[in-house]
Amino acid sequence: MKVLKFGGSSLGTPDRIRGVKKIIEAQTLPCIVVVSAFEGVTDQLSRTAELASSGNEEYKDHFEKIITKHKEFTHALLNDEADQRKALKVVSVISDELREVLKGIFLLHGSTKRAIDQVLAAGERLSSYITGLFFGDCYLADSRELIKTDVRQGFLVVDFKATNTLIRERLGKLEKLALLPGYIASNQNGETTTLGRGGSDYTAAIIAAALKADVLEIWTDVDGFMTADPKKVEKAYTIESLTYSEAMELSHFGAKVIYTPTLRPVYKENIPVIVRNTLKPESKGTLINGKSDDSSRSPIKGISSIDHIDLVTLQGPAMVGVTGTSARLFGALAKSEVNIILITQASSEFSITFAVSPADTKAATDAISSEFEREIALNDELRILVEKNLSIIAIVGEKMKNTPGISATLFKSLGRNGINVIATAQGSSELNISVVIKNESLGKALNVIHDGFFLSRYKEMNLFIAGTGLVGSSLLKQLFKQLDLLLNERNLRVRLRGITNSRKMLTDIKGIDLGTCKEILRTDGIKADISLFILEMKKMNLRNSVFIDCTADAKVAARYGEILSEYISVVTANKIACSSEYTYYQELKSIANERGVRFMFETTVGAGLPIIRTISDLVLSGDRIFKIEAVLSGTLNFIFNELNGELPLSKAIKKAKEKGYSEPDPRIDLSGTDVVRKILILAREAGYQLEQKDVEVHKILPDECFEGDLSDFYRKVEKYDDEFERKRSELEKNNKKLRFFATLDQGKAKVELISVGPEHPSFYLEGSNNIVLLTTERYRELPMVIKGYGAGADVTAAGVFADLMRVVNV
Ligand code: ADP
Ligand code: ASP
Ligand code: MG
Repeated sequence: MKVLKFGGSSLGTPDRIRGVKKIIEAQTLPCIVVVSAFEGVTDQLSRTAELASSGNEEYKDHFEKIITKHKEFTHALLNDEADQRKALKVVSVISDELREVLKGIFLLHGSTKRAIDQVLAAGERLSSYITGLFFGDCYLADSRELIKTDVRQGFLVVDFKATNTLIRERLGKLEKLALLPGYIASNQNGETTTLGRGGSDYTAAIIAAALKADVLEIWTDVDGFMTADPKKVEKAYTIESLTYSEAMELSHFGAKVIYTPTLRPVYKENIPVIVRNTLKPESKGTLINGKSDDSSRSPIKGISSIDHIDLVTLQGPAMVGVTGTSARLFGALAKSEVNIILITQASSEFSITFAVSPADTKAATDAISSEFEREIALNDELRILVEKNLSIIAIVGEKMKNTPGISATLFKSLGRNGINVIATAQGSSELNISVVIKNESLGKALNVIHDGFFLSRYKEMNLFIAGTGLVGSSLLKQLFKQLDLLLNERNLRVRLRGITNSRKMLTDIKGIDLGTCKEILRTDGIKADISLFILEMKKMNLRNSVFIDCTADAKVAARYGEILSEYISVVTANKIACSSEYTYYQELKSIANERGVRFMFETTVGAGLPIIRTISDLVLSGDRIFKIEAVLSGTLNFIFNELNGELPLSKAIKKAKEKGYSEPDPRIDLSGTDVVRKILILAREAGYQLEQKDVEVHKILPDECFEGDLSDFYRKVEKYDDEFERKRSELEKNNKKLRFFATLDQGKAKVELISVGPEHPSFYLEGSNNIVLLTTERYRELPMVIKGYGAGADVTAAGVFADLMRVVNV
């Protein structure tokens, strides 16, 4: 015979309940079905009781909402009027009963455990009655009459002797479908008790064990027991099989897919358990039994976590060599009903640390304070420390025993991602290793550990983009177009998690659609604030995060250090950071190095051309750069190529801006600043410690052109149109052209306007092209030449794209 349990997640909507009915109809009879409350109802009841006991009248509204939900489910599921009347009658009887209990709690400004249990039990009583009528011909029993609880050492436990007898009496000779509410039970006085949150699993296991069922099936909303909680680790996948011990360990450390005590009774009777998905009944699920399975490639089976724990440490010289301290400590904790999740002891015996749920912390410290009152009174003999906002992660697997290097992988994955381990423990059975970390790093830690132990199908890259101008927009388009290819052919999943421009910003941990992100930013974005954007990025704390700067904003460039320090790579097309003080440039590089992230800025010189990468590779391989000669301004080159009798300088500047070659403010190009920045970056990459002021600048236009605002500039430039045209036509007669040239020679940098003839490699430099000639120890006679488009949104975006690919090494 089978016992099947359907959790709240399987009973979330009338449609889901219809799905459950189909699953039940496919079973051979007799079989037993245990149901939880409808999804969320126990939480809502618990909240109602909390409000009532704190004297808050809102409890009434909360409660009425719960009742309304049950009435709605009744109408949605039951077509037969008589059935509907029966169900509504029960809803009304139970709600009247509860209103009384809640009123008592409210008036007394407090509650007893029994009163709370009476409230909490209503969910299963209602759901089992309504679904029972919906399923049709079935035997509906009240689990409170079958499952008896007792209290031992302060803890509520199941009285198995009484319970097993009652179950066998009532269900032993079953011939049809039986339906029972999970979670609820009663004590010797006949008062309602509950088996702990998630306890319906336990109900089903107790029944399965008592009747020596062939199998216990736990039906829920995921494909089975997974390598991690799929709500926290997107890449988690279903585990084919687990031993009872592995599943118990994972569940002890937070895998709530199975309530922790559930496996004990079925383990004793060697009854296999299958975890299955109600929403996908065709999938195989996870088999839990006594057989260990060696086929998995990873030495661990799964990772689980408890989101909120506190660490309590008892510390002081009084601990050293005093036998019986631990016994006194844990005895006192047990008496106070404190559940200990993990214990670690330093080998010096100077302290004992244990983890408890935050709800137990006060009881724990009170218990220790009174047990060790005398020692604590003796000054520093003994101290109690509490650390809060922590989480526990455990990795679990039977194969761990025989595999060396597991802790190394665990600690390496965490360390590399800047996650501090606050405490660690290894179970004596060597079935698990657990670590305590700050709660804020939990999501990231789970993911990096998962990546470290399980072969993932794909890598993930999380992008935060600043700037939606020409380059930013072009990058978004390119990324969107390549998404499928990156996923299918490079196993790289690109997710946009944040986007900002100078007006609006938007961040979303669930991801933002790359195809429509600009519209979404416009409609849903909030007022842009780079500090807030960085804060949100930090808070998300995702591994493989990359901040992409497609702005030309100094305020953004000033924040790279902070961003890199958070283990977030920076890819930038913005020249400001790399061409500001040498110390800042150097600091950024060293932070990136220390943190193991990347700082990439290829597109700051020559757009998509591989200039910086080439120089860096040459230097790395031991070459020495003697000289760099370059035309580095796509804008200026375009302008000088465009000038002719009909198109004067002022118009050519406007045209360069229209084509998207120039900086947002073209004066940056015309004043030579842009080229100064670029040659400075190249010089630094070539190993020279230069500052902007060290670059000799010969301007194209006199200083007065740059005084005032942009419209003044355009106006003033017109005055020089004729002069430029004269110079140009004269040069043309001698077959020469104007080129704005940057040189670095023996560590000295200079930018100037020169005229070149056809013998010069830059003479035939078309449009907005750039050219760089590198004279090095190896390329001495004939310099290395890099040439091509040096400006333009598409090529720059493609260069940023290439940097991104290098960040993740694909
Ligand atoms: P039910 O209502 O069916 O009892 P629960 O919410 O109690 O469902 O348990 C199922 C949930 O457990 C899943 O939706 C998932 O988020 C969570 N969970 C945590 N760890 C794991 C894991 N290792 N494998 C599968 N699910 C897990
Ligand atoms: N309804 C109970 C709870 O939410 C029991 C269960 O779902 O298993 O905790
Ligand atoms: Mg559950």
